[in-house]
Amino acid sequence: MDPEGLEFQRERHVLFLEMMMERLPSDYETQEINHLTLAYFAISGLDILGALDRVDKDQIASWVLSFQAHPRTKSDLDNGQFYGFHGSRSSQFTIIDSEVSTHNCSHLASTYCALAILNMIGYNLSNLNSEAILISMQKLQQPDGSFMPIHFGAETDLRFVYCAAAICFMLNNWTGMDKEKAKEYIVRCQSYDGGFGLAPGLESHGGATYCAVAALQLMGFINADVSSKPAKSMVIDVPLLVEWSLQRQAVNGGFQGRANKPSDTCYAFWVGGVLKILGFYHFLNKGALHRFLLSCQSKNMLPDLYHCYYSFAALSLLEEEGLKPLCVELGITAINGHVWTTDVVIGPIRSSEAVHEKS
Ligand SMILES: [Zn+2]
Repeated sequence: MDPEGLEFQRERHVLFLEMMMERLPSDYETQEINHLTLAYFAISGLDILGALDRVDKDQIASWVLSFQAHPRTKSDLDNGQFYGFHGSRSSQFTIIDSEVSTHNCSHLASTYCALAILNMIGYNLSNLNSEAILISMQKLQQPDGSFMPIHFGAETDLRFVYCAAAICFMLNNWTGMDKEKAKEYIVRCQSYDGGFGLAPGLESHGGATYCAVAALQLMGFINADVSSKPAKSMVIDVPLLVEWSLQRQAVNGGFQGRANKPSDTCYAFWVGGVLKILGFYHFLNKGALHRFLLSCQSKNMLPDLYHCYYSFAALSLLEEEGLKPLCVELGITAINGHVWTTDVVIGPIRSSEAVHEKS
């Protein structure tokens, strides 16, 4: 319990997420296109809370797999379409745009969420047609190293570089992207103040900064012991980044996403996660952050799934009792007691193999 009497209401949160799994309130109607992402928040949230036994894993696996886009033949892999996962049932409908019909709206973010969910419920990812995902994903990478999330054109920014890196990491296969080009793009997104913007030249932002640092970590460009390394050996300006990140903690203990903005629970994970990856988490005021997060627990109103999830993730970083530890750069927890770290990738057993062996 917090000195001010605030207590983490684990059981209430579990019930809330179970309810969200059962049926989403009508407020989420406009979010139908992101159904898989909303499911990721609920399932991963239950996982962090140590309550994944409340879900039917086989049912979830077949539901998630039903969103995968499959090439009809191997030659389809050259047609420029992305064969990942759709975000929802409606995105599997055919779209007719300028008289060209598109049957495939699979998206990098939905694919990240699909693989993350499949991982946390112990599904063996080697059963997937990962070649189709990875070969078609190469075509989403732009000449500047960034990624489009979908094959028929959309914004390109750091969010999708992160998704691509996490997908390659989870599939344990980096043929889906040109890592060097992606790294160059990420480096160009670091702003004069040390944070990262979503694209080169844009204002530093907590979410973008997480995407940059977590992607570099997954790609193996940041070592776990970065805090003890000389600054010059790093691909990005770490001291400036750490300073920018620490300055995001506001007087109320919470983190803001940008300078002069109110603090908000989700940045306790986005910015806190950056500090954790870089090994500077002990510099933030943990007690004040803990109090801020607990003061955001909602008693009467239904909180939104996104902020609820990232509050649990942030509390897991703070080692709240009863919460499972996170693999920060991947955004999911330990699997069957195995904590994913990028260190493991270069060790004798690769993390995904370890997961596959146990599943
Ligand atoms: Zn937020």
